[in-house]
Amino acid sequence: MDGSGGTLASAGPWGYSVSGVTAFVDNVLSRGESGITDGSGSRLSTETDFAPGGGSIVFDTSESWFYNSDVNSTTAPTGGQMDFLSTAMHELAHVLGFGTADGGGSNDGSWSGKISSGAFTGAFSKASNGGSNVSLDGGNGHWADGTTSVRHLDGVSQEANMDPTTTSNERKLFTNLDIMGLRDVGWEINVSAVPEPSFYATVFGLVLLGFGLVRRRKLQA
Ligand SMILES: [Zn+2]
Repeated sequence: MDGSGGTLASAGPWGYSVSGVTAFVDNVLSRGESGITDGSGSRLSTETDFAPGGGSIVFDTSESWFYNSDVNSTTAPTGGQMDFLSTAMHELAHVLGFGTADGGGSNDGSWSGKISSGAFTGAFSKASNGGSNVSLDGGNGHWADGTTSVRHLDGVSQEANMDPTTTSNERKLFTNLDIMGLRDVGWEINVSAVPEPSFYATVFGLVLLGFGLVRRRKLQA
């Protein structure tokens, strides 16, 4: 994808069709996860899990990327570069169903079935958001632009990775809210490893949000 639209990257799970012996169809659709099919080769009208067979990610190769693949590093790029790791994690989450787990047709997927009045109602995300549904952006595939949570790595407040934009000179690691979004899609995640937000982290985040209003922003689809 070129950079003409200002989009850094885009991604999603593969689509596919399958037919044949019932047990085979059921296995392809569910890949062993419950909550996707009825066990006889038909998708549930409301799915509670997601099992992509694969997916694809496209990156804008004309972008000036900063490459540091250490997920435990908070070092941000400089000189106007975009952080490849932040965008790659974002796109991988889309492959894994964040904003994309749609049951298809009239069915509800484990993401699409948890959207109400422009907000995400998934229980884990809601709990991570102070008990409130999480506002989504207009396409319902991301948290609303500027949504904040706390970084999973160290509990420091940060704009969520899975909002629709990022900026130059910024590293956005996954926040607790981002992780809970994937958990609501159906992924089993060891939540005991997810730190709780601290008061100071929250205050720091509000200051960061203030600066965020004047930063150059680029879409990550
Ligand atoms: Zn996106």
